[in-house]
Amino acid sequence: MRILITGGAGFIGSHLADRYLSDGHEVIAMDNLSTGTTANIAHLAGHPRFQFIKHDVTQYIYLAGHLDMVLHLASLPSPVDYLHYPIQTLKVGALGTHNTLGLALAKQARFLLASTSEVYGDPLVHPQPESYWGNVNPIGPRGVYDESKRFAEAITMAYHRYHGVDTRIVRIFNTYGPRMRLDDGRVVPNFINQALRGEPLTVYDGGTHTRSFCYVDDLVEGIVRLMAADTHEPVNLGNPSEFTILEFAQKVLEATGSSSEIMFLEPTDERTKDDPKVRCPDITRARTLLSWEPAVSLEAGLLRTAAYFKQKAVSEA
Ligand code: UDP
Repeated sequence: MRILITGGAGFIGSHLADRYLSDGHEVIAMDNLSTGTTANIAHLAGHPRFQFIKHDVTQYIYLAGHLDMVLHLASLPSPVDYLHYPIQTLKVGALGTHNTLGLALAKQARFLLASTSEVYGDPLVHPQPESYWGNVNPIGPRGVYDESKRFAEAITMAYHRYHGVDTRIVRIFNTYGPRMRLDDGRVVPNFINQALRGEPLTVYDGGTHTRSFCYVDDLVEGIVRLMAADTHEPVNLGNPSEFTILEFAQKVLEATGSSSEIMFLEPTDERTKDDPKVRCPDITRARTLLSWEPAVSLEAGLLRTAAYFKQKAVSEA
């Protein structure tokens, strides 16, 4: 197959590129490198079935030749990034999804939208099944991300219903692993970097919020299975083991052998406004439709991720 991955130089996009290449397919990674980096795909340079195109998907996409699949991963999923770049976040979710759907329609390619657990907002139903409509504040600081993805889901279903595009929607819950940006501001890179440097771990809001963390290899396996399955309904992919952020901080200290302290902070920026207090996927649909569930424990995933951050710090020193 010939596969286009937008956001292909990003964290998850580059892992998907690796996977589809190792399965024998041809991969085109498209990225405007705003948060993605060529370092994530440097090992693919010169690969006969790999091509990189620097392009912003909010602009019209012209691509010669046929395509079998379009996977739309381009996005600014870190709260720190989308607070800094609110308009770009809205545009990539809205215009970028429109352009990539138009391309999929023109090429008669199967389409995947990378959606998010943020469509559930600060959820009133817990854990979150796909049938839950969510609790999103459209005008809050997180609204730029949440609403762009909700629009993206709506336009994806419209292209499916009215144009017959063969669409898939994955709602990705917190995912971590090598190639996350050191400075993306999310809890996994923040805590691991702080632990490795012996700095205090910055725990917001008393550390009582919960998240569940999925290792990137598990997510990629789920996406590959979803692309091969026959469903147009959204499917949650994430790890159902739920931790408070304080428990997670302790897991990071164990995995890194760090003696960093824990520092409780009340952030002064808008980062934690509307911050979901709980989040955990109900993965019944993925289990049933895809026979999928995460295989990598948090302990094992944190060890691999910490090794990546350590090596990255050495190579950038
Ligand atoms: N968080 C924290 N310290 C940090 C970064 C994040 O306590 O240095 C908390 C944040 O308030 C949230 C959770 O960790 O409750 C997950 O935040 P993240 O930025 O990773 O992404 P989110 O899951 O909110 O999209």
